[in-house]
Amino acid sequence: MGEQSYMRAVTLLGSTGSIGVSTLDILRRRPERFRPYALAAGRNAELLAQQIVEFRPHVAVVENDEIRNILIQALREKQLSQRDWPQLECGAKALVEVATARECDFVLSAIVGVAGLEATYEAVRARKQIGLANKEVLVASGELVMAAARDTGTELIPVDSEHNGAHQCFRAGRKQDVTRLILTASGGPFRNTPAGELKNVTPRQALKHPTWKMGQRITINSATMMNKGFEVIEACWLFALSPDEVEVVVHPQSSVHAMVEFNDGSVMAQLSTTDMRMPIQYALTYPERLDAPVARMNWLEARTLEFFPPDFEKFPQLRLAYEAQRGGGTSTCTLNAADEVAVEAFLNGQIPYTAMAEVVEDTLAKVPSRKAASVGEILEIDRESRRTAREVIKMRSTGAVTLTSGR
Ligand code: NAD
Ligand code: MG
Repeated sequence: MGEQSYMRAVTLLGSTGSIGVSTLDILRRRPERFRPYALAAGRNAELLAQQIVEFRPHVAVVENDEIRNILIQALREKQLSQRDWPQLECGAKALVEVATARECDFVLSAIVGVAGLEATYEAVRARKQIGLANKEVLVASGELVMAAARDTGTELIPVDSEHNGAHQCFRAGRKQDVTRLILTASGGPFRNTPAGELKNVTPRQALKHPTWKMGQRITINSATMMNKGFEVIEACWLFALSPDEVEVVVHPQSSVHAMVEFNDGSVMAQLSTTDMRMPIQYALTYPERLDAPVARMNWLEARTLEFFPPDFEKFPQLRLAYEAQRGGGTSTCTLNAADEVAVEAFLNGQIPYTAMAEVVEDTLAKVPSRKAASVGEILEIDRESRRTAREVIKMRSTGAVTLTSGR
């Protein structure tokens, strides 16, 4: 089949991150297909300046005024004629503007954390095509985002590799015939570490992921398997499944990303090279498929694919995520917020590795779950949960540990 020609103007939220840089590589290879309309980043002004020089977006957004000044300085040093500068904006409102602008067709949502929530939600409401990498959007606010998607008939194409794989498997049959979705997990760097040794794990050890190269937070979350817990929640929202219909299986080779089981017992699996440019390109070009952006799997090489059940005792984060999703309401928003605070505290050397799960569990016990009616309310609960998680950490360090979670 011949390739249809279209030109998509892309707003890339999180252009300087791991997903952002991979996305720009796809855009670089396909200038006839994609034109960057806006690049948005947090604080990495130097890399953003390089990206502006290469990709010439119409708008660039950074986190605040101070970073915008650094960006201006960086652009001057690059000797890009001021005539060719993009419009330079900053802050959350600007993120919403570039995600909903009339000039933009496609939003790739790859900011990390709830900082990407509002812009993604508004992009859904503005009926943009959406590639969703940011998993915290659905963990914190799945109900509202999916309700908006239903109302506007917007489909979120998942970039997260497991969900992207699942999206492909689902196309093999009818939704009503699906009995289970199986998400694979690499098992992270501590798959074979005895549980008793985990308390001594250092940030450096936890930041070494065996199969994927990613941002810091998701790398730690892959070690603790909170990432897989988030993905279970993300899958429940994306594919309208209950937590009991989503299973996790440890698969150290990360070749199979997801499997969908149908009621006749048949299982469809999706496999590909472990390179995020695969799912990113799929999302950008769906429903078309373009030539592989990276080397294909070589099936003439001997290979072994292994599958193991996950260890819920050694990885309590996985259990906490299932419980939060079963509980419903804003528990998963609190789960995400508490986890972000706990990961930061671990990376700063404030708490040991094993305390991350305890901080999340104690925070969940303290912040009541409710029903949120707006993204504003979600962000309020996010702030409240962060405050509570910080208090929990402070109480730990002063020795005043309360046993709210019955450990
Ligand atoms: P990263 O830390 O490498 O990049 C995050 C990006 O967000 C950066 O560009 C940063 O500047 C930007 N950012 C942060 N705060 C911001 C703010 N307030 N305003 C504007 N921009 C801000 O993270 P990543 O690994 O690229 O992951 C991005 C998202 O995709 C995460 O939600 C992650 O869970 C998800 N994801 C990543 C991978 C992966 O392979 N890296 C895979 C699946 C899902
Ligand atoms: Mg994933």
